[in-house]
Amino acid sequence: MKIGAHVSAAGGIFNAPANAEKLGCEIFQVFSRSPQGGPAPKLTSEVLAQFKSEMKRVKIDDFVIHAPYYINYASTTPRIRYGSISIIRDELERGSLLGASYVITHLGSTKDAGQKLGFHKTWRGIQRVLDGYTGTTQLLLEGAAGAGDQVGGTFEELGALLKNIESAPKYKNKVNICLDTCHVFAAGYDLRKKSDVLATLKKFDAAVGLKRLKLIHANDSKFGLNDHRDRHEHIGDGEIGREGFATLIKHPKLKTVPFIIETPWDTKYQQDLKLLQKLRG
Ligand SMILES: [Zn+2]
Ligand SMILES: [Zn+2]
Repeated sequence: MKIGAHVSAAGGIFNAPANAEKLGCEIFQVFSRSPQGGPAPKLTSEVLAQFKSEMKRVKIDDFVIHAPYYINYASTTPRIRYGSISIIRDELERGSLLGASYVITHLGSTKDAGQKLGFHKTWRGIQRVLDGYTGTTQLLLEGAAGAGDQVGGTFEELGALLKNIESAPKYKNKVNICLDTCHVFAAGYDLRKKSDVLATLKKFDAAVGLKRLKLIHANDSKFGLNDHRDRHEHIGDGEIGREGFATLIKHPKLKTVPFIIETPWDTKYQQDLKLLQKLRG
């Protein structure tokens, strides 16, 4: 599988490929707009041409876009709910122009709506994102650490979301899943020993289906199993440890699933990438 990292797009998205090359990425992840908010920088024909020529120059042919963090399909505030739907749709359209494989979205929280209505609003919101969409970039739903009222903190809930989205045939296989190892571990699924990883993948397979897993965010965890806290740590330095990552990265069923690090941005960032590449063999 391809191994890469989340990279900076400071100064313009056309700077991302060079940042990825510097780190030794085989694939990369980037924000196409500020993750905290504000209007998206325009993708003019000059920007698109510059981005594509940079991709060619650095010989990286695959990348993904992480959507902003403030997305909440379940919000009872129309501005937030409809804003989320239109921003994710816009990200998919932007991704299609740029040539991204995936847009990854967080799922938000049912804090204002309550669990039942919030869950319904979430899958209906995702259907609305897809209505009339004909682009090439696919949408991935990211599993959560299961803090508070977050949507997507269990494999069962992710499976149920896909099932509800696909209750109308036109949405079949339009949406898939991204798992973050730190979130999975924080949500209570063990990844420390080889046997833990195999058991966790089995649970995911039963609840969602392994073939729906299209991307892994490879992050170790500062906090413990089932702590529901999302703090990324360098690979091998956290509570998950090296054995878990070595097992995941060599798993035959994950051969085509890219791994992307989002570990703390410091002097060890590149080492994390190199370590995963070494563990892959
Ligand atoms: Zn994420
Ligand atoms: Zn996280």
